[in-house]
Amino acid sequence: MKPTIALVGRPNVGKSTLFNRLTKSRDALVADQPGLTRDRHYGHGKVGSKPYLVVDTGGFEPVADDGILHEMARQTLQAIDEADAVVFIVDGRTGLTPQDKLIANRLRQLDRPVRLAVNKAEGMVSNLVVAEFFELALGEPWPISGAHGEGVRSLIEDLLAGFEVEVEEEDLDYPKFAIIGRPNVGKSTLVNAILGEERVIAFDQPGTTRDSIYIDFERNARKYTVIDTAGVRKRAKIDEAIEKFSVVKTMQAIEDANVVVLVLDARQDVAEQDAHIAGFALEAGRAMVVAVNKWEGMDLYARDQIKRDIARKLGFLDFARYHYISALEGQGVGDLFASIDAAYKAAMAKLPTPRLTRALQLATEKQQPPRAGLVRPKMKYAHQGGTNPPVVIVHGTALEHIPTSYWRYLEHSFLKMFKLQGTPLRVQFKKGE
Ligand code: GDP
Ligand code: GDP
Repeated sequence: MKPTIALVGRPNVGKSTLFNRLTKSRDALVADQPGLTRDRHYGHGKVGSKPYLVVDTGGFEPVADDGILHEMARQTLQAIDEADAVVFIVDGRTGLTPQDKLIANRLRQLDRPVRLAVNKAEGMVSNLVVAEFFELALGEPWPISGAHGEGVRSLIEDLLAGFEVEVEEEDLDYPKFAIIGRPNVGKSTLVNAILGEERVIAFDQPGTTRDSIYIDFERNARKYTVIDTAGVRKRAKIDEAIEKFSVVKTMQAIEDANVVVLVLDARQDVAEQDAHIAGFALEAGRAMVVAVNKWEGMDLYARDQIKRDIARKLGFLDFARYHYISALEGQGVGDLFASIDAAYKAAMAKLPTPRLTRALQLATEKQQPPRAGLVRPKMKYAHQGGTNPPVVIVHGTALEHIPTSYWRYLEHSFLKMFKLQGTPLRVQFKKGE
């Protein structure tokens, strides 16, 4: 699995700037999805051949006042506890503060790699800027500039040196779906509703509290694995007080699944956290099914309200199929499987080059890419570059002039022409023949 790096530090040290740098190159297009929240906290990155996940702990929920660490929200503490590695960021211009010391106290107790990054160090003398931070006893401080990029790469390389390079797994030949969603939307109830009816073949005990539970089962003689991020079976009730929702767990489950079932609560407005989770799944390119839960007994007006709210805030999930269910009463739960199957099939679809090229011709005949000044981008042929999600590589000339809107148009056209239901699809452009 990809290691997860948590970015920690007091406000204004430059966490989100560094986060953007670490996650930037991955898929700039995703950021252009209309309706997708820009204020992201989870992302993908890669240094050399090593992929990783990043959590910016900065923007999480309001700070809870709990003792000496009141500067650090509970969510931040949780992310620290769950991450595989931590970058602790301090501000080289402001210098060492009491808050930094409090955070350092906590981080020194961690048994995972921590690096101390002295940010905003561009144009400063490295030895001088880091000197006072040795006091934090977190090893040699690393002078970096998140804004300019200096020192960032070597910092991350060093941090991840102990982690194995992930070997790309063979595509599974059956759906492995993760049930994800914010706390209390009904994930545990849904997992139980699903498993109540089916034959469970095996289920893994989680290694640690941050692990999801993987359960293999059969339904209508087909095999599935459900990834239970709520971890209900094992830890039921024991530490209900402790948050059973976990950002890191959710991110890793999304990574590891080939389909995600996003659970929403019909009785509450769509929250920022819903959009963040959905955005992360989209960025990961996962096929998706949306289950709007607690649907029983709601009146028409309330149903209409929530549908509108979802359309407005999660419009970027227009490729997914929506189900209105009651996990508690078991309504609509069985129907999810048709969509899970379809989404899985679409995510894994093999798209032959001649048909893709034909589809490309049809799409461009219907609508040409706009001119950019005197040049008009010319697309020649297309072939498949990957599955889960399907990637279509389009070859041609002057493709760098193709605007995002046309890019989107092509993606939609391919999805439509190949009748791919429930998966996003990515188009990439390659210059030349
Ligand atoms: P956060 O609150 O920790 O997420 O911090 P931000 O990323 O929002 O940055 C806080 C401020 O520091 C902003 O004004 C940034 O432009 C600035 N900043 C971030 N990184 C750097 C850096 O590497 N050098 C300098 N000079 N300023 C930076
Ligand atoms: P999780 O935190 O996402 O795993 O959510 P739970 O499965 O623990 O459910 C949170 C609360 O919502 C519990 O009190 C459930 O009984 C309730 N709940 C779950 N599904 C439904 C449903 O379909 N309808 C109603 N009315 N309540 C539900």
